[in-house]
Amino acid sequence: MALSDEVKARVSLRAIVEQTVTWDMRKSNIRRGDYWAPCPLHGEKTASFHVTEPTGHGGQFFCFGCNAKGSVIDFLMARDGLSFTAALRDLADQEGIDRTADPARIARFKAKSEERQRQAEIQSRDLAERGISRALRIWRASFANHPGLAAYLERGRGIRISALGGLPPTLRYHPDLPCYEGNGSGRPRITHRGPAMVGFIGRQRLVGVHLTWIDPKDPARGRARFDDGSKVPKKLKGRTGAIWGQPVVLSKPYCPLVMVGEGIETTLAVLAATRLRNPGFKARVEAALSLGALCGPEARTGARRGKSPRTGRPLPSPLPDLESPRPGWLPPDGITRATILADPGTKCPDTARLHAARAEAKLAHHCAEGARLAIPRGHWDHDDDFADLTKNGELYV
Ligand SMILES: [Zn+2]
Repeated sequence: MALSDEVKARVSLRAIVEQTVTWDMRKSNIRRGDYWAPCPLHGEKTASFHVTEPTGHGGQFFCFGCNAKGSVIDFLMARDGLSFTAALRDLADQEGIDRTADPARIARFKAKSEERQRQAEIQSRDLAERGISRALRIWRASFANHPGLAAYLERGRGIRISALGGLPPTLRYHPDLPCYEGNGSGRPRITHRGPAMVGFIGRQRLVGVHLTWIDPKDPARGRARFDDGSKVPKKLKGRTGAIWGQPVVLSKPYCPLVMVGEGIETTLAVLAATRLRNPGFKARVEAALSLGALCGPEARTGARRGKSPRTGRPLPSPLPDLESPRPGWLPPDGITRATILADPGTKCPDTARLHAARAEAKLAHHCAEGARLAIPRGHWDHDDDFADLTKNGELYV
């Protein structure tokens, strides 16, 4: 048996995924080996990340938001920005699988893994190119400066558009966009359709779109919801996600300061509140779109990580891998200072703090004058991000 097959058969994907997420117990069916969680690869709050593992090992995953899929090896490659070989090595060592015993196996494995990696790259490029043309069609069918979008951001999310001097040109309104769910096999079906905010992903040319569905009856109610009350998940199309690190640019004056947040609304909320107080405030402002993109992969130190006292899960590393070929979001050229808008969390405040510390260390490395964190209310132990503080008026007092 090839080492990769042995690792895939013996390692529990569920257990590896659990290091970073908490399952949505309303949607999961543990008896059937069916697990759902917010996707750890593209950053979201609804559970569109699906793991099937009925036997307790050898599981497969599929994300209905970013279309990532595969085995435990694919998952580790995407989550930690590892090569196929490095992911395999980590998993084999974790599971105590001997990977040195048989030289013939090593040679076979090496040839196979090179071929696999080549195929995976071709496949992901193909998928991205197809996604980009779909993204372009959606962007072209959407409207700039639409009152429906202004109503959603202003009344639905509490963002003062007037302080921004109008809607950013990178955000448009699609009046009737279908939302598809597929399970990786068979034809995807439409689960919702209605108005949506379309975000232009890419600094120069369009490489994807970010889609957020708006309540079809009243934009002041915010995000669109399914009948059961859960939010219609945000979607990304094109060359997007933590692997590519491509942002939605919300403001781009010529300026040495960049302000970056994870979500579009959070980042826009802070820009509007800052401009209201200080109309001359100038910064390049970007939404990195996922926590993975903002923090980048962890340093491969091999040091044992502590566990969260609240969740019992391993804590993320505060140290970035500065040599990773896939560092996620990086500041544009000419930037010397960065402000990172952090998200706190009661589930595990330490995890929130360490993720932000990694983003800070990564950006400090790329900015001559350093990077700093902005933390909502100045502490980690709550669930309100900057968009929530805007909505309840705290950011404007
Ligand atoms: Zn995803």
